[in-house]
Amino acid sequence: MKSTIITVGKEVLTGKTINTNLSDISQNLRKIGIDVLSSFVIDDVYEEFSRVLDIVHEDIIIFTGGLGPTIDDITKESVCKYFGLELVLYPQVLAKIDEYFTRINREMNGFNEKQAYFPKNSYVLENKLGTAPGVIFTAENKTIILFPGPPHELNPMLDDALKYLEKLSKYKYFSKGFKLTGTGESHMEKSLSDFYEKHPEVSIAPYASIGEIKYVFTSKNEIMLEKCLLEFSERYKEFIYGDLESTLESSVVQLLKDENIVISTAESCTGGMLASHIVNVSGSSEVFKEGFVTYSNEAKIRYLDLNPALLQKYGAVSEQCVYQMAFKLHQRTDADVCVSISGIAGPEGGSSDKPVGLVYFGINYKNQTKTYKKIFNGNRHMVRKRATLYALNMIRKELLNV
Ligand code: ATP
Ligand code: MG
Repeated sequence: MKSTIITVGKEVLTGKTINTNLSDISQNLRKIGIDVLSSFVIDDVYEEFSRVLDIVHEDIIIFTGGLGPTIDDITKESVCKYFGLELVLYPQVLAKIDEYFTRINREMNGFNEKQAYFPKNSYVLENKLGTAPGVIFTAENKTIILFPGPPHELNPMLDDALKYLEKLSKYKYFSKGFKLTGTGESHMEKSLSDFYEKHPEVSIAPYASIGEIKYVFTSKNEIMLEKCLLEFSERYKEFIYGDLESTLESSVVQLLKDENIVISTAESCTGGMLASHIVNVSGSSEVFKEGFVTYSNEAKIRYLDLNPALLQKYGAVSEQCVYQMAFKLHQRTDADVCVSISGIAGPEGGSSDKPVGLVYFGINYKNQTKTYKKIFNGNRHMVRKRATLYALNMIRKELLNV
């Protein structure tokens, strides 16, 4: 089945709101093998609805935005007007909206009542976090889906909508995937060209973000899918840190738990980002001992007992510095794994021998201290984020001995 996604609203047109709904919906449709062939962003006036509905030809037409209670929210009314569908009251939906207002301790107003009207035989998608339910109905042999605009309201509805669409589809699709770090998208794509040819029954989609790539595999044939996943996981085991639900930090915390060991961190340019990522994982208190943000040289001397002469000679952004930071951190905290980071996040502070993006890492584990050097691209935030992910991956590889 083929689909189109139509985003409604001036905010998206003017660039005030980034169209994250498009990518959320699209990525989810792909999981069940539905392709998105086109996408539009339109103003919330009836003429634009009618203009776009005149030209779309896909079997599934998805709208997002303009389902709110106010006068400028006209998506449902416009789509139904276009297809000549009458809107009728769904009393059980009205009761749900009423319940929502009672829960948040507010009075329902007359405008909200319009949110309980849908075409006959609609499948209503409950909105637990707002008043505007989503809806699925058929018109002229097409499946029409209307989602609210706010992402936190739309996203919880996606599963329900996908289940509905899966039933419509003649086939059941199977979807799984992996998250990778420590490699780049273009490098992966080059090395995958023969792999794509070998697995024509599986659709393979990469999604790259800062410092990591997600590969989603979808197929109607479950056996072929499993075979493909196995081959991929063997070929790229060095880079794979988990399935689609895992995060790099959750896989590191799990490894530390499995080994029953604890970690301490000493960070300079990442300013606590590594510690914060680890603490993001619930249950990290079992494995995270302490974290120092030793941003200045003075702090490195005071808290980690670094030799001022060493800092003077090699500078804070140096292999010698991160080596000492990790080593002294171990002496100080007695943690099983001690990690240090020092680098130049930019945009100022670079030089020809120490450019912006240069970051050194140290790791002390099992009486051994190792150091690594990397140069990252991007702005200050990207350098810090990439350095944090690199450090997490360094810990993962050290613990797995890969
Ligand atoms: P509401 O009841 O909040 O009015 P609605 O369904 O009418 O919901 P809109 O009025 O179109 O939705 O948008 C409400 C808010 O949702 C916007 O201000 C914006 O923050 C967010 N939003 C809308 N469309 C998108 C989109 N395509 N991507 C990301 N966020 C969006
Ligand atoms: Mg609105």
